[in-house]
Amino acid sequence: MDKTFPEVETLVVGPLAVCCYLVYDPETRDGVIIDPGGDAGKILSRIEALGLRIGRILATHGHADHVVAAEELRKALSAPFALHKADDEFFRGEGASVFLSWGFPPNPPADETFEEGAEFAFGRFVLRVLHTPGHSPGSVCFYDGKRLLFTGDTLFVGAVGRGDLPGGDYFQMMRSIREKLLALPEDTIVFPGHDYGDRPTSTIGREKRENPFIQEGL
Ligand SMILES: [Zn+2]
Ligand SMILES: [Zn+2]
Repeated sequence: MDKTFPEVETLVVGPLAVCCYLVYDPETRDGVIIDPGGDAGKILSRIEALGLRIGRILATHGHADHVVAAEELRKALSAPFALHKADDEFFRGEGASVFLSWGFPPNPPADETFEEGAEFAFGRFVLRVLHTPGHSPGSVCFYDGKRLLFTGDTLFVGAVGRGDLPGGDYFQMMRSIREKLLALPEDTIVFPGHDYGDRPTSTIGREKRENPFIQEGL
């Protein structure tokens, strides 16, 4: 087992098939959840089976499909739920209507909010916040500083997120991708917020070369 990087376990959860990630230190078993998008029971039983201590529940953005299990998980795990400041406010207010109309419950308020550069430590590792607005005002990616990048709905494998939902801005999202994500090393592994197709992860290098939306925008 490679001890240089955190372990990543992917669980596809909820009505919109969100990729929820358990990211943890395989030695200390300390970890975080990224995008609690539903199926709390499934997430909890995996955490128990892996013997993890979850210190924080993180969301890449405030769209309801990525946070709908946060309430149940934070109670069960006694761990704070953390979200970018801009999305915590926006999606409990004017941004919520579209998700309520799709049948999602209102977003739970975050226990903690964060901004660009915030760091979340677990075991020997840390995830740093890259604020990448555009898919939503407070969309972020989480980067381990070496190799792993959790991109939410900003960058997918071979695609990019929507820019037409409330608070979204397609051109701002493409600028975030260019300036913050494509600047990372080419062997950085991309873990997207949804898995459209048969290649669940990618690399920054491959997306630079093969992602048609990025090709078009360069
Ligand atoms: Zn989204
Ligand atoms: Zn999504």
